[in-house]
Amino acid sequence: MVFVMKVLPGPVFKYEFMNHSASTHTGLGERAIGKSLEAVLPKEMALYLNQEYQRAIDIGTSITYEDSFFTPDGERFYSKTRVTPLHDESGICTHLAAVVKDVTIQKKAQEEVQTSSDLLFQNQQRYQSLFEYNLDAVLSIDTNGRIISKNLAVETITGYTDEDLIGENFYKYVIPREKPTAIKGFEQALKRKAKESQLTVYDKSGQEMNIIVKFTPIIMEGVTTGVFAIFKDVTLQKQYEEKLKYIALHDPLTDLPNRRHFDARLEYALDNLVHRQRHFALLMLDIDHFKEINDKLGHDAGDTVIKDFATKLSHCVSTTGTVARYGGDEFIILLELPADVKQPAIKLAELIYEKMQIPVHVHGKQIRITTSIGIAIASNKETTAKEILKQVDIALYKAKENGRNTYFFG
Ligand code: GH3
Ligand code: MG
Repeated sequence: MVFVMKVLPGPVFKYEFMNHSASTHTGLGERAIGKSLEAVLPKEMALYLNQEYQRAIDIGTSITYEDSFFTPDGERFYSKTRVTPLHDESGICTHLAAVVKDVTIQKKAQEEVQTSSDLLFQNQQRYQSLFEYNLDAVLSIDTNGRIISKNLAVETITGYTDEDLIGENFYKYVIPREKPTAIKGFEQALKRKAKESQLTVYDKSGQEMNIIVKFTPIIMEGVTTGVFAIFKDVTLQKQYEEKLKYIALHDPLTDLPNRRHFDARLEYALDNLVHRQRHFALLMLDIDHFKEINDKLGHDAGDTVIKDFATKLSHCVSTTGTVARYGGDEFIILLELPADVKQPAIKLAELIYEKMQIPVHVHGKQIRITTSIGIAIASNKETTAKEILKQVDIALYKAKENGRNTYFFG
């Protein structure tokens, strides 16, 4: 667009000429010729052009400025204008020539670049805060396993600072036994398979800590450049789970394995019998006339007797077998040996009777109890748990029938 403005005293700038492009683009048309800026343009725009034109006159040579305005169609139009003052022989500025170049395309491209770089920056910030302020601990690790950075939660959870970790190999902190699991998880992630592992690591104070860690690949422009290890401390949960598991498998009064625990142990013994030629004997014990103790001395006294009985049995069996509380005043022992178990089973029964001679102290009284014992030997590979339990139960019944305080082989 080309405009020629006449400079009148004031100065007042009046349109003297505009080319076709100028007339259509601005929508001013021929009607603007001979009129001042103020007469045809919105007030603010007129004011702005007045200033720029004045500047050109003051400087006495060409100036450029950037501008934007809306075309009659409502489209935004960016322009770069060069204004050149034209002087008469006496040096007075009589006209201004304004050449306006359409820079809309360049300007819009520039704006787009700016917008995408703003977005990129925002994204970076977003991911930065996802990393930095994540409640889970996050380590970023290079492809060689070296720690590059860590977030705040790492320090909160483990106590380690940047100085302790940066540049170190991540598996240095894993307990020796679990290093292979840690390395495997890391290598799987490098192959782009995210993997979750349970690991035990040392915290800054040297204490073992259970963590659940997710190894996730860091992929940049299609290339795996490292791995994020995202983890949380599950020590308390793990302790709690173990406690629950313990409670589920133990009798609270005697702390011995309970029936459920024993049944699993029995299945294992049967498997050993079939595949490893290990024979075993079962000894089922039931305290004689136990109800009388409860009735005469009270339930608490009964409990004390049961606990004492359990302790004595555990001492007799030591490491050669498993003692469990099968229910009430009934206990069961599994004795597993590579060869003949009959003699060791008899010896054990005799040892138990010997121990029964030692009295229990209840409420200042000394009580002696007796027990009946049923014994069954498992040497037949076809035997099932149900059958051997029935066999030993019948043997116990027989021992009771035979007058109690004795054992019976079934
Ligand atoms: P038997 O010689 O035939 O075995 O006679 P018993 O009196 O011992 O009778 P039995 O073995 O059938 O009864 C066991 C009793 O043990 C029944 C129940 O009241 C009692 N008992 C079961 N569990 C507990 C316990 O945890 N604490 C106490 N104090 N008593 C229990
Ligand atoms: Mg009994």
